[in-house]
Amino acid sequence: MLSTMQDVPLTVTRILRHGMTIHAKSRIVTWTGGGEPRRRTFAQAGGRAVQLAAALRGELGVTDDERVATLMWNNAEHVEAYLAVPAMGAILHTLNLRLPSEQLIYIANHAEDRVIIVDGSLLPLLAPLLPHLPTVEHVVVSGPGDRSVLEEADAQVHDYEELLAGQSPDFDAFDWPDLDERAAAAMCYTSGTTGDPKGVVFSHRSIYLHSMQANTTEALGLTERDLTLVVVPQFHVNAWGVPHATFMVGANMLMPDRFLQPAPLADMIERERPTHAAAVPTIWQGLLAEVTERPRDLSSMARVTIGGSACPPALMEAYDKLGVRLLHAWGMTETSPLGTTSDPPGGIAAEDEWPYRITQGRFPIGIEARLAGPDGSILPWDSASAGELEVRGPWVARAYYGGSDGKELAPEDKFSEDGWLRTGDVGVISPDGYLTLTDRAKDVIKSGGEWISSVGLENALMGHPAVAEAAVVAVPDDKWGERPLATVVLKAGAAVGYPELRDFLASRVAKWQVPERWATVASVPKTSVGKFDKKVIRRQYANGELDVTRL
Ligand code: ADP
Repeated sequence: MLSTMQDVPLTVTRILRHGMTIHAKSRIVTWTGGGEPRRRTFAQAGGRAVQLAAALRGELGVTDDERVATLMWNNAEHVEAYLAVPAMGAILHTLNLRLPSEQLIYIANHAEDRVIIVDGSLLPLLAPLLPHLPTVEHVVVSGPGDRSVLEEADAQVHDYEELLAGQSPDFDAFDWPDLDERAAAAMCYTSGTTGDPKGVVFSHRSIYLHSMQANTTEALGLTERDLTLVVVPQFHVNAWGVPHATFMVGANMLMPDRFLQPAPLADMIERERPTHAAAVPTIWQGLLAEVTERPRDLSSMARVTIGGSACPPALMEAYDKLGVRLLHAWGMTETSPLGTTSDPPGGIAAEDEWPYRITQGRFPIGIEARLAGPDGSILPWDSASAGELEVRGPWVARAYYGGSDGKELAPEDKFSEDGWLRTGDVGVISPDGYLTLTDRAKDVIKSGGEWISSVGLENALMGHPAVAEAAVVAVPDDKWGERPLATVVLKAGAAVGYPELRDFLASRVAKWQVPERWATVASVPKTSVGKFDKKVIRRQYANGELDVTRL
């Protein structure tokens, strides 16, 4: 028997209409670097999204599921594109502005972007790419910037504000398409640490359900009373879903635009007093160093969602002292990205929360998980059996975008035959469903017959008062196959000998795991989304570029 309930498609169009009407007064605040920030209500931003949709269709002729790319910082206009493009039936493709040119060219061509909306400040980045992007017919420029660099471009150049000006902001004035909730809404490419980048295509339904999950109190828990500082870039897995989630509940957004350095971040927190924020650990490391040197009041930020790579427990402790609670989350492009969040279980005392907070967290209703052992057998959730994490659920990818020939890519090392995503992350799960990741499969150190967790060594090292950052990688070793190499960045003015660091580690991890090879570096190399770039460290070691001491 079928139910008697209505079957309403879960679409971004509904998110747009809901946010701009029910939460009309909520705001998007865009930082301008010291002067008065730009402030726009959801009613205004939503109206402008309607105008953008109308202009894309009426002026630029965007139809069906054509790709409209963005090359933008986090700002109000980028949020407008987030809403307008999927709602009008096209596909939003966020381009990662930190990728090397050849990868950006590969990605834009693979997705066959027809339009690129670009921040004026990023024109010097886009202009040299354009001759290599034959599918791009229109470039829409938002905000100030030197447009003369586009004079030679084959694509037609438009001004964002002029395009909008000719259109009605009235939601009902536009003929919105009837969308299948399973239709593509947005796409994002993985950073391609191995092989070419791969496209993940999110559906309206997956975005809608993921946003609802993001808004639960066990995840981001945002309400209309919140102001969330969205540091995680909108080109990094849709800013972890925050812009769509906020439009559902009316949470206000603080957008840093291009002012992502620790000093302006500290200034905007002190001045605008956000209640929540989201970013990767390296951002919070940088901000901590900044406010240690020049104190600012961060205490408005009661909760911070931190993920993208493992959060060192020492970082959590440091922020606890500033009145800021870091909440660990795990996810990946293929999981939209929220996969776990580390809200401690109910019914435990505050002093017993710590062991839960330092895990990657618990799986929400939308994510089913299992651990696969080296032989493929499914392992128990006993906090001890380590295996590769596999997940499935309504906001988890089942394949990669194959290009215009319609063939999807489902490499066997990423997707199991019975429909699970192989994450490439190794860890254990407790009987009550908390995930602790020990490593990425490709970063684990295989020493003799045993595995050493690079993250475990890093977290322990970053607990030493002289250490600002530590990255540990596997290096070849004649006797053991592989051994750990520890690279450390010392805090400003700190001095410490390697023997002291070795003894410090030996008191925290098994003795045979303690590295013999040590190097001090000025900074740890980072990927385009701010994670430790371990393949660069391995290459530096292989090329003899590191000053390594052997103890
Ligand atoms: P990539 O880093 O490959 O560019 P993603 O942003 O999709 O792409 O990264 C996903 C990966 O980041 C996960 O598979 C995992 O290895 C790592 N990761 C994300 N969050 C965490 C976390 N909280 N702790 C440890 N690792 C994490």
